[in-house]
Amino acid sequence: MDFETTLKQDILHNGPLSVAAFMARAAGHYYATRDPFGAGGDFTTAPEISQMFGELLGAWAADVWAQMGRPGAFTLAEAGPGRGTLMVDALRAVRCAPGFLEAAEIALIETSPALRARQEEALRGHAVTWYDRLEYLPERRPVILLANEFFDALPIRQFERREGRWHERTVGLDVAGALCFGLIPTAEEAPEGVQGDVYETCPTAQDFTHTLCRRILRDGGAALVVDYGYARGAGDTLQAVRAHRSVPVLDAPGESDITAHVDFGALAAAARGEGATVSGPVPQGAFLQRLGIGPRAAFLRRTATARQAAAIDAALRRLTERGEMGDLFKVMALCAPGIVPAGF
Ligand code: SAH
Repeated sequence: MDFETTLKQDILHNGPLSVAAFMARAAGHYYATRDPFGAGGDFTTAPEISQMFGELLGAWAADVWAQMGRPGAFTLAEAGPGRGTLMVDALRAVRCAPGFLEAAEIALIETSPALRARQEEALRGHAVTWYDRLEYLPERRPVILLANEFFDALPIRQFERREGRWHERTVGLDVAGALCFGLIPTAEEAPEGVQGDVYETCPTAQDFTHTLCRRILRDGGAALVVDYGYARGAGDTLQAVRAHRSVPVLDAPGESDITAHVDFGALAAAARGEGATVSGPVPQGAFLQRLGIGPRAAFLRRTATARQAAAIDAALRRLTERGEMGDLFKVMALCAPGIVPAGF
């Protein structure tokens, strides 16, 4: 039975799923069964646009490590590493920081077997350990964690205001047997709203942030979160993308990339609650400029052919300019007290 049929059977027998349960199932199938990145795939991420992105994040990590007093053993972690491109580029850049690579245990938090295989290929020659969950990372050593377009893939709950109260959005079946959205009453506490308002929460992202910041506060370290998102309240942000086009969320579940905008305000509150210092969110463009993407591009251009130079310039624009990833994407750092992250 294919994924969609199995999903529908399950709903038929057990009733509608919450949007979060639907998203978790669909994303699980989606990432487990393909390499979705790049021109021939469904979407393109910053590290796949240019090596400069991973290099600068590597330099950012090396600076955090130096500020911590260059610990001789620490974990360099990435959550949702995709093809492993960001980590490969970061590890090349950190060769400028003597001792960093020797001290780093590289930890990839990844659930997809297909993408783990891609990451293994990309990182051949490096000692890498994979983990299903953040909780399983080795204890009692500092952790520097990078996460690009990871939080947007985590399942969200959606609530809708109807008749003066909040309802949770569900995914069920209509009379024709097709997937459709529904509502069930909920006791969930949500801010005031008017008829039709939609409110989202991401319990998985909140849990991840609490766990991460508890670790960072206890053992030292910092995290860098890059994603598209908002600082407060945004309504319905659930979306699906296939072959670089927006598609209806319930069409061909498990065959499109389902994401939601990241609620940076909620993550920041969770982090502060654990005692972490929060920097940002700032626009990705400004962050990369402060880390020196301009000079890095100029340096790469020096040895480039005319065609390569044009590609470097195009990538620079795409990563930094307004209306491109430069302001759609935001960067936020969560740090142990005493660390002043670069780029903010
Ligand atoms: N960071 C990469 C990939 C982003 S796509 C890039 O920028 O190119 C999202 C990644 O997160 C994929 O690798 C996906 O398999 C992984 N992922 C999604 N949900 C996850 C979860 N709950 N736990 C661990 N990894 C997850």
